[in-house]
Amino acid sequence: MSNSQIPRVLSGMRPTGQLHLGNYHGALRNWIELQQSHDGYFFVADWHALTTGYEDTSQLQANIRSMLIDWLAAGLDPQRVTIFIQSQVPEHAELHLLLSMVTPLGWLERVPTFKDQQVQLKDRDLATYGFLGYPLLQSADILLYRPGFVPVGEDQVAHVEITREVARRFNHLYGGGPEFEVRIRQALKLLSGADRATYQELRRTYQETGRAEALDGIRDLLERQPPRVDAAARALLVDYPHGASARILPEPQVLLTRTPKVPGLDGRKMSKSYGNTIGLREDPDVVARKLRTMQTDPARVRREDPGEPTKCPVWDLHQIYSDEPTREWAAAGCRSAGIGCLDCKKPVVDAIVGEVTRMRERARPFEQDPGSLDELVRDGARRAREVAGATLADVRRVMHLTREGAP
Ligand code: SF4
Repeated sequence: MSNSQIPRVLSGMRPTGQLHLGNYHGALRNWIELQQSHDGYFFVADWHALTTGYEDTSQLQANIRSMLIDWLAAGLDPQRVTIFIQSQVPEHAELHLLLSMVTPLGWLERVPTFKDQQVQLKDRDLATYGFLGYPLLQSADILLYRPGFVPVGEDQVAHVEITREVARRFNHLYGGGPEFEVRIRQALKLLSGADRATYQELRRTYQETGRAEALDGIRDLLERQPPRVDAAARALLVDYPHGASARILPEPQVLLTRTPKVPGLDGRKMSKSYGNTIGLREDPDVVARKLRTMQTDPARVRREDPGEPTKCPVWDLHQIYSDEPTREWAAAGCRSAGIGCLDCKKPVVDAIVGEVTRMRERARPFEQDPGSLDELVRDGARRAREVAGATLADVRRVMHLTREGAP
């Protein structure tokens, strides 16, 4: 459940249809771990799918639903986190538009994936406004929820960096001025008299001595506040000791996700484009068959030939699915030719088949009752819009797009 006291994380995924084990270990498993300790917002980035796949959108709805079911099957829990579809929260589009007014073109042109993807996806015309702007749409996606952290892999760090730059620029342009003082006064009024005095004392200490403990004291004080001291007021009061401008859009931190290597059936990276995947909800018999015929160390032509686990993709699966004694058994058996490849694969086959079977069971209620999925994302969009709407109200106000005091 949403909780303002625990750190918020936000992440999204483009709807590409059925997910495979590479997607699961690459991002989804991390989300599921994060939901235990964070206030999670996870969204289907359907507008992002259009930035490179705008010509044929006929599969978009099917892909969205399939991916949502995969998330739930993998264990993402809508009781703990907010799951929604980007296009059902129009605030993303408005913030994207407003940020586009202040973002220099050069920032977008130098995002590494801008040039890379144009080269990689040569068959598509990506000389579009939407494609150039997609990192900024991502910035809007993130900043709307004012998350503390964005879980990303190495390749996405540049996107979070541009988000931080955009936030900094926005705050610099619109976070100061006399209005800031008014807002500070309003935020301070939300504290009790005693807490207000403690806050002012800590702020003075920090400004006079620069001691980090004073800032920690302020954070502790704010963490103890009741819900009426909302996220915006807390962000303001955390910033106030630093100077006279507000972080309307706080800069998120990167939460680097370490991902295991997930080999496909042919030994290359698991990827839909290589046709070497195992789907999260694939038939267990098919999964077992695929794994039994999976590529191994090419040096093991016959049963009696010794092999080298580090040259075998099955070994990478052992890293993910097997415990230490099993790995030792597999490595020793491989190098001595004491076991055959089918023996070696068995623990991996059992683990993956078990995992896929559990996911299929968790998916079944949503497959059987499509309305429950609609309801789930409707509720997610409602919850997301509450947070996004509050941020956008602040953004509109500081940009003077709403009249001060207007309802
Ligand atoms: S015994 Fe195991 S690690 Fe060795 S080649 Fe066969 S499958 Fe790979």
